[in-house]
Amino acid sequence: MKFDVLTLFPEMIEQGFNTSITGRAVSEGILELNTVNIRDYSKDKHNKVDDYIYGGGAGMLMFPQPVYDAYKSLNVKEGTRVVYLTPVGQTFNQKMAKEFAMEDELVFLCGHYEGIDERVIETIVTDKVSIGDYVLTGGELPVLVMMDAISRMVPGVLGNGDSSVDESFSDSLLEYPQYSRPEEWNGMKVPPVLLSGDHKKIDEWRLERSLERTRELRPDMYEKWAESHPEYFELQRKKKKKAEEKARKLAKKLAKQEML
Ligand code: SAM
Repeated sequence: MKFDVLTLFPEMIEQGFNTSITGRAVSEGILELNTVNIRDYSKDKHNKVDDYIYGGGAGMLMFPQPVYDAYKSLNVKEGTRVVYLTPVGQTFNQKMAKEFAMEDELVFLCGHYEGIDERVIETIVTDKVSIGDYVLTGGELPVLVMMDAISRMVPGVLGNGDSSVDESFSDSLLEYPQYSRPEEWNGMKVPPVLLSGDHKKIDEWRLERSLERTRELRPDMYEKWAESHPEYFELQRKKKKKAEEKARKLAKKLAKQEML
C-alpha cells in the first residue's frame, strides 16, 4: 500500500513513519511512503505558501496554487482518495482505518496555519477526517495517527497476523486486561484461569472482562454490541437458569438427607 503525504514538514512524517513497525513494513516493501513538500511547488518569488484571509480574522491561510500543483505532481490514477486532515472532518475510528486499508494508494493533505483555501479542498479532496475534537498546529500528527492505524490493518504489517483481530474496537468492544511474566508481581497475581490452559474458559473470561470494561468505560459501544449480539444474552440466561436448577436440586437433596 502506498501513502502520499502533501505537507510543509516532510521530515516530520518520514521520521515518525519510518520507525518501529511501520518502518519495518516500509523496508520490507509492504508499505511505501512518499512525501511531497508543498513549499517546493510555490510559484511565489519568496516561496510563500500562505496569505491573509479574505474578510479578516486572525492568522494566515495556505493559498491554492502550491497545494494544487503539489497534488498534480503525484499523477495518481483517477479515483484515488485524497484525505484532508481537518478538525471539521468526520472523526477517525477503527472502522475507517479498516476501510482505508483496502485502498492501494491514499493521498493525505496536511494543513497548517489557519488551514487551506476552500477552493482547492473542493477541487481535490474526497474525504475530510479529524482525529478528535481539538485543534492542532498542523495535519502532520493526525496523518501519522491515521497512517499508523491503517497500516496495522494491512496484511503482513504486524508480525503476528492475529494481533489486530482481538484488539479494542475490533468487535465494538474494548480489549480485556492482559498479563505477562512473572505470575506474581508486587503481590498481584495473574488470574488463575489464564494459567489453566483451558482455551474455552480463557475465551469466556476474556469476553466477560471486555464486556465489563466496555459497559463501564464506553456505554455507547456496549449498547451497540448488546444490540447486535442477542444470542450472547440468551445463552447467559440459559446458563443462569441451568445453574439455578442445579442449586435447587442440590438443596432439595441435602434437605432430604437431613430429614433421614
Ligand atoms: N482554523 C482551523 C479550524 O478552526 O478548523 C484549524 C486549523 S489548524 C490550526 C491547522 C491544520 O492542522 C488544519 O488545517 C489541519 O490540517 C490540522 N489539524 C488541526 N487539528 C486537527 C484535528 N483535530 N484533526 C485533523 N487535523 C487537524
